[in-house]
Amino acid sequence: MHKQAPIIGILTNILTVETGVLSGTERIYVNRDYVTSVLKAGAIPFLLPIIPDLEATKRQIEQIDGLLLSGGQDVCPHLYNEEPSLFLEETSHERDLYELQALRYAYELKKPLFGVCRGLQLINVAFGGTLYQDIPQHYQSPQEPKEPLTHSQNVAKQEATHTVDLSANSWLSSIYENNTTHLHVNSFHHQAIKDLAPGFQVTARSKDGIIEAIEKIDECFIVAVQWHPEMMTEHHEEMHALFCAFVSRAALGGSHAH
Ligand code: MN
Repeated sequence: MHKQAPIIGILTNILTVETGVLSGTERIYVNRDYVTSVLKAGAIPFLLPIIPDLEATKRQIEQIDGLLLSGGQDVCPHLYNEEPSLFLEETSHERDLYELQALRYAYELKKPLFGVCRGLQLINVAFGGTLYQDIPQHYQSPQEPKEPLTHSQNVAKQEATHTVDLSANSWLSSIYENNTTHLHVNSFHHQAIKDLAPGFQVTARSKDGIIEAIEKIDECFIVAVQWHPEMMTEHHEEMHALFCAFVSRAALGGSHAH
């Protein structure tokens, strides 16, 4: 581990113990794959617990060089001015509020942001975009067949199940050799971006037209993917490369944003 290795803050989730004498106890957690992937990419993983205090949240963000927004619950639809659909799944108002504060302050300090799954969706909503609350119910592919492909795979997490086509002239595609036009990715999401937030660019789409990656790179650095690269870094070099590229950016520091 290099002495100057950047610190990557990882957003966490809350798990409530359901049985036994500790029933009702809340635990702060994140899937270990995030920690392992950040460490393997040469950075220091730093878990950020959900806290209800804005000043304390700011101090958390000041300690890190980059922010990794992890997967989890659906984003509350009222944050993008929609009523809840019958097909909306679990949401967490507490987590939404904390993560929006963390994200906005990290953005203000020009810390690089990397969103995964829910992280991509939250970033899109934070910057004024909207979501499909449920792909099978609300999304129609512009191509034939109109039905979307399955984005909730029933095979092991590290297995790729669908293709994403990369946009040329994006940071995402710049990670790979010039002849790489697509990636094979896993898929564990029932929601997706509907209206893209202003200022963002789509950098990958699945064959049914779903937005699978976005970025906004100007005075800040925001990239996000709809799949779970952290579950694939052990066996898929291109997903490890994605983490390495983000860590390299975080190592430059907020004052070197160009
Ligand atoms: Mn997908």
